[in-house]
Amino acid sequence: MLCPVCQTQDLVSFFDGGDVPLFVNVLHEDRGSAVNAPKGRIELGGCSACGFVHNVAFDPKLVEYAPGYENSLHGSPTFQDWATSLAAALVERHSLAGARAVEIGGGRGEFMELLVDAGLSHGLVMDPSAPEDAITPKDPVSGAPGRTFELERRLFEPSDALSGPAPTRLLLTRHVLEHLADPFAFVSLLAGSAKEAGAGLYVEVPNGLWTVRDLGIWDLIYEHCSYFTPRALRTLLLRAGADVEIRETYGDQFLSAEALSVGAPMSPTPDASPEEDHLREAFGAAREGTVAAWNQTLAGWAKTNQRAAIWGAGSKGATFLNTVEDAGVIACAIDVNDRKVGRFVAGTGHPIVGADKVGEQKLDAIIVMNPRYMAEIESMARAAGSDAEVLSIVQ
Ligand SMILES: [Zn+2]
Repeated sequence: MLCPVCQTQDLVSFFDGGDVPLFVNVLHEDRGSAVNAPKGRIELGGCSACGFVHNVAFDPKLVEYAPGYENSLHGSPTFQDWATSLAAALVERHSLAGARAVEIGGGRGEFMELLVDAGLSHGLVMDPSAPEDAITPKDPVSGAPGRTFELERRLFEPSDALSGPAPTRLLLTRHVLEHLADPFAFVSLLAGSAKEAGAGLYVEVPNGLWTVRDLGIWDLIYEHCSYFTPRALRTLLLRAGADVEIRETYGDQFLSAEALSVGAPMSPTPDASPEEDHLREAFGAAREGTVAAWNQTLAGWAKTNQRAAIWGAGSKGATFLNTVEDAGVIACAIDVNDRKVGRFVAGTGHPIVGADKVGEQKLDAIIVMNPRYMAEIESMARAAGSDAEVLSIVQ
């Protein structure tokens, strides 16, 4: 398959991830439907020219975003703090007071609300699969007369950047590109619209380099068919005309690409990266080592009748449970997101328990799926009356 990002090389297969649930972020109401969740195959191919990684076994027809889709991270105070400072920085850099911003794929509207709170005058979220309990629309915004905050459940069209009550100064899209089989078509549309409107562009994706370099192996999910290293993301956006600055953000787990304005499409030639080539080649064996170590830990807990849980019922948690041999040692998944509590993890059927109920679970060990949240999780667990050992998934 020709690399859809740089279109100069074929993707070379380097990792077979087997069958996994199609949707780890769709919540199941009962254990039976969770266990029988449909599956699809992961086989990663990499581009030696630009570093892009793609699930070459991905079938877009199998993926249809239903309203049960839940991947918000805003329940975590650590994430919320980070997103709040990002919103303030974007409002300042793009002079969003008195202006309009359009977010494509903004889900519940949580990030747009932060932008409006930080001084943006008119926010529009466009997302055909926005959940029913989206926090938009809010018009007028309470405590801020003159500001508007709207949601439209449809696909973005170029004319959307040219309408509205004030000039559009920023188009943004966060955690959308990784779901697309043809990310270039999408960013071309976005960058072209930004250029015409005289707007800047902000694109955020999971950091694919973190996945292969720091073994973010629990982030490999069917829904994410595309993985961007900084080189790949820059190549993609340059081809669309956006000469972006790229930063590894959120503890290197995300990539933030930003341009104050967008120009004409370019034909970049990315520099070779022997380091990234090596990381892809070594990925399968390194991942196997990490999985084997956890299998051994869980087998030890099974022998001594330890009761354990994972903290985090999102992508990482679901992938962990679907990967390890003895997931039965894990009694439940804990999550701070109320919309997940009482539901079941796709593929394995683990129940999802609220953070406030962790004491009642009488746990001996809790595995924290994202090390960024170690401190906040340990204090929440103690506050809920749990004396379980709190371990990081990254050992
Ligand atoms: Zn490429």
